[in-house]
This record gives sequence, C-alpha cells and structure tokens, in this order.
Amino acid sequence: RTLEQVLADGIRDIPDYPQAGVVFKDITPLLADPTGFGQVVQALAAAGQDDDGNPVVDKVVGIEARGFILAAPVALALGAGFVPVRKKGKLPAATYEESYSLEYGEATIEVHQDAFAPGDRVLVIDDVLATGGTLEACLRLIRRCEAEVVGTAVLLELSFLPWRERLASERVTSLLSV
Ligand code: IMP
Repeated sequence: RTLEQVLADGIRDIPDYPQAGVVFKDITPLLADPTGFGQVVQALAAAGQDDDGNPVVDKVVGIEARGFILAAPVALALGAGFVPVRKKGKLPAATYEESYSLEYGEATIEVHQDAFAPGDRVLVIDDVLATGGTLEACLRLIRRCEAEVVGTAVLLELSFLPWRERLASERVTSLLSV
C-alpha cells in the first residue's frame, strides 16, 4: 500500500467530538495496523534525515499525548533520544513552561530544563496540526533550552486552520493535508 492509502485507511472522522460541531481526526485505526504504523514512522523519520538517509538529529520531541506514540519509534529509527513535552504538572524535575491560548482559555506545556544538551539538534513530532498554537509553544520551549530545531513533522494538517501563518518561518512536514 502507498502511504496515501495507509493514511486514508487509518485516520477516521469522529463528528461532534470533543464538542458539537468539531470533527475529530482519530488515528487509533492506524496505530492498530502494524504495517501502516511502520510506514508512517519511516515517513516521519525522513524529516530527521539528510538526502542520503543519514540521521541529522540528536533528540526527537513528542508532544503529549498522541505525539508520544509516534515520536518514540521515530527516535529509535533515527538512533536519537526521546524527549517528552507534557501538559503542566506532569514532569517531576525542574521545568521550563510556555503558555498558549486556546479557543477558550489557556494551556501550558513543559519540558525538563536538562532535557537537551546545548546545541542538540531536535525533530518535533505530533499527530495533528490545527491552529499551530501547541507546536509554536513547543518550539519556544526547545529554544529556551538552547537546542536547535531541525524540523517538525506531523501526520495530518488541517489546512483550513491558519497554522501556516503562525509557523511561517518553520520547516514543517505533514504526511497528509485535509
Ligand atoms: P493546535 O494547537 O490547535 O494546532 O492543536 C494541535 C493539538 O491538538 C495537537 O497536540 C493534537 O494532538 C490536538 N488535536 C487537535 N485537533 C485534533 C484532531 O482532530 N485529532 C487529534 N488531535 C487533535
């Protein structure tokens, strides 16, 4: 199967979740498909490789929670370390935090202050890019740690939302655009 077929088969629309009027993109069928999951991990990992397929990153960041599921196998595929970026209050050691606005209210994410060595090259992975607010805050966190963002990769971008303006200067790879 092509990557396009794998993504079409593995991502389903759930209407009115988590609230009325929202169509939630559910990736759990894809995760349950071992061949497809493997293809997707390889495709995301390509964002952390040079043209010859050599890894060019030291760390792969996963954004809680579905980003963890994708970023951990990508990190192993690249021979890189895995770093979790978590919702506030979940990480046990000293953290940096960044807040960003949601449709209603604010959210805060954190990373351990010692998660990166200065100059570490970092690939950021998440499942879905919607407004871009989460990813933008995550990039601020990584840069506060004096690490270098090599790129970001997501399974799916919702192109009807204005994330591109927000992340105009960033290298963003998405496997599927809807
Ligand atoms: P953003 O900050 O608006 O770009 O939202 C992106 C974050 O919300 C990501 O961490 C996603 O996991 C999550 N998210 C937003 N919409 C969806 C969806 O339809 N399916 C799965 N996750 C979503």
